[in-house]
Amino acid sequence: MTPNVCVVGAGIAGAGAAYALRERAAVTVFEADAIGGRMVSGTRDGCVYDYGANYVDPPDERVEAQLQSVVGDDLAVTTDDVWIFDAEGTIEEGRPNQGRKLSGRNGIDEIVEAYLDASGATVHEQTPVDHLSRTDDGWRVTAGGEQRPFDALVVTPPTCEVLFEDADWEADLREQLIAARERQSYRTIDSVALHYPFALDVPYYALVNTDKDHAVGWLSRDSCKPGHVPDGEEILIVQLSPAWSAGRPEATPEQAAEAAADHAATLLAEDRLADPDWWDHDRFTHALPGDRVNPALVEYALPHDLGLAGDWLAGTGRTHAALETGLDAGRRLGKRL
Ligand SMILES: Cc1cc2nc3c(=O)[nH]c(=O)nc-3n(C[C@H](O)[C@H](O)[C@H](O)COP(=O)(O)OP(=O)(O)OC[C@H]3O[C@@H](n4cnc5c(N)ncnc54)[C@H](O)[C@@H]3O)c2cc1C
Repeated sequence: MTPNVCVVGAGIAGAGAAYALRERAAVTVFEADAIGGRMVSGTRDGCVYDYGANYVDPPDERVEAQLQSVVGDDLAVTTDDVWIFDAEGTIEEGRPNQGRKLSGRNGIDEIVEAYLDASGATVHEQTPVDHLSRTDDGWRVTAGGEQRPFDALVVTPPTCEVLFEDADWEADLREQLIAARERQSYRTIDSVALHYPFALDVPYYALVNTDKDHAVGWLSRDSCKPGHVPDGEEILIVQLSPAWSAGRPEATPEQAAEAAADHAATLLAEDRLADPDWWDHDRFTHALPGDRVNPALVEYALPHDLGLAGDWLAGTGRTHAALETGLDAGRRLGKRL
């Protein structure tokens, strides 16, 4: 009989795990919110904008070739450069030839969706996993008010300690996983998309603050991504720095949007940028991991029919690293099934 595997989380790590298991198991993915996780995009008035992860930067040709074959013609490639700025707002040219930055023509979540489509997995959105229970021959997973048996499990969310704390699972590894996650820090980022009914004439795709002392950590132009912004318009993605965001836990979306627009106007010396005609905002409390957990946990988990994946394991907030953990978890579990 075909083994069945449950994947918790439909971010890029969960999608990678489902993809790697596609010929080995029947995969069910439960997602608390929507496909994409932090690879999230919005749409409005004919515009598409990526306000979580901005792009995937494939580390080598092998990874880019896989992304190309899975996503196909909808892959949106940006080659414009990222420049740098300091605490005083002085902008300088960054490194040239910074490589290809990948999104989807319909938003970066399209990449995650493409991996899930190619995997053949059954995906349940808006269906958080509430409880895990270890059995003699696998796991019971409670989601959407229903408990179902699975031969194996892949857990991806950066908040997975909550699930392990509550799990019916007698094993030292359970405690180790909770402790590892609790020791690990995550940065908070307020991300704002600002729309303008005019184009910007600047020679870069994005600006990154290199001394980490500016209120803005990152500013980019979604108009550089094919298919995202109609000609003659602009969408700026402004990510307020982790210090700004963590220092203002009570900031409202309006306050974050106002701060983002004011800083964009000052940084780019364009008064008009202080007054976007619309905006969107999200606060990511688990934006980027600050450090790594013990990678040996992956090995310890496998005999429990448990795959671990996600950027919390990679220890770096990069989409390609999260994808790699998912592919790896899927491949290794698949060999055991
Ligand atoms: C503002 C911002 C900008 C970034 N910029 C970049 C960038 O430009 N390039 C880059 O490479 N990386 C960037 N990153 C980092 C990148 O987004 C992440 O490293 C990557 O998307 C993590 O993927 P993941 O699958 O590990 O986690 P996630 O994408 O967080 O996926 C985990 C999923 O699990 C779901 N979930 C949680 N609990 C449950 C539950 N109980 N049951 C079911 N589902 C659950 C969540 O809803 C989520 O969808 C950025 C991140 C942020 C926030």
